[in-house]
Amino acid sequence: MSRFFSSRYAALTPYTPGEQPQDQDYLKLNTNESPFPPSPGVAAAVAAQCGKLQLYSDPQCTGLRRALAEHYGVKPANIMVGNGSDEVLDLAFCAFAGEERPLYFADVTYGFYPVFAAKNRLPFEVIPLKEDFTIDPADYFGKNGVTVIANPNAPTGLALGLDAIEAILKANPDGVLIVDEAYVDFGAESAAALLDRYDNLLVVRTFSKSRSMAGARLGFAIGCEALIADLETLRYSTNPYNVNRMTLAAGEAALAEDDYYMDNCRRIAAIRQDVAGQLEAMGWRVLPSKTNFLFAASPAMGGKAMYQALRQKGVLVRHFDAPRTRDFIRITIGDEAQMERFVNTVKEIEKEAAQ
Ligand SMILES: *Cc1c(COP(=O)(O)O)cnc(C)c1O
Repeated sequence: MSRFFSSRYAALTPYTPGEQPQDQDYLKLNTNESPFPPSPGVAAAVAAQCGKLQLYSDPQCTGLRRALAEHYGVKPANIMVGNGSDEVLDLAFCAFAGEERPLYFADVTYGFYPVFAAKNRLPFEVIPLKEDFTIDPADYFGKNGVTVIANPNAPTGLALGLDAIEAILKANPDGVLIVDEAYVDFGAESAAALLDRYDNLLVVRTFSKSRSMAGARLGFAIGCEALIADLETLRYSTNPYNVNRMTLAAGEAALAEDDYYMDNCRRIAAIRQDVAGQLEAMGWRVLPSKTNFLFAASPAMGGKAMYQALRQKGVLVRHFDAPRTRDFIRITIGDEAQMERFVNTVKEIEKEAAQ
């Protein structure tokens, strides 16, 4: 820390992203990226923008917002586009939370929520998940703050039904509910279906997981016009060119080829179920996932030891060293061959441990 670093941030612990090692070829199952490349139209759309990089991107993101609006059956005024959904979440926290409305989120959830809250100096309260890692909707009733729910949740993979989401909306008419749907395309129900009935709902989505574009940085929010206008006020007060022109074009092209991505999601979900079954047969505890990852605990060793043993053998997964999560590892679902290698490596490790 320099002697100039503002005292505002002296106690800030930044988010720790999953490792992106540049030294050796790992099987990367640690950051929930897609094993599949973007659809063919994306490369062409990006290439077409390269000769125009002397020009700023469209601050209104007109083409992409129109395409997203059509895709989700809303108006462009219901959509705000961000540099990854992380940026959208950061702006949404700032826009709606504060002294009058604290933030509420689970103890086991996306690790960026407490970081955004701390960086923006927003009051927040952590609400523990139940013993089985599910959310009790009643824990959020009557708070009327800003509730953030990752649905499906990370790193548990568990999904909450729309009835529960709607109950939380109804019980907080003066609070905002942000539903972070980073993984919804892998098998959960989207709260977007509730948007025309609730003006206190913001649905946040990303192209990073189900649409194979983590490196392009593209996310968006869907909500009523007034909520979106508030987000736009903050976006224009931060960086109106937050999404570059290559990424805007990539997003539009991806939406035009959506069947490709939805097929990939179904394929990943099938691989996920297969791997979950294999791990369960080996005595693992596997939480029922609706995402592109599994949260699972080996009967042979703790999560940290399993993470380290896998790393030694060239397989990267994620371990969260906190009391409720330390028995588990989070395994991103790769393609069939990658997951076969993963399962075989685990078998090897458990055999060696038993000797
Ligand atoms: C990956 C992830 C995000 C962030 O996605 P980006 O769009 O890449 O910023 C947001 N929320 C959750 C729960 C995630 O897992």
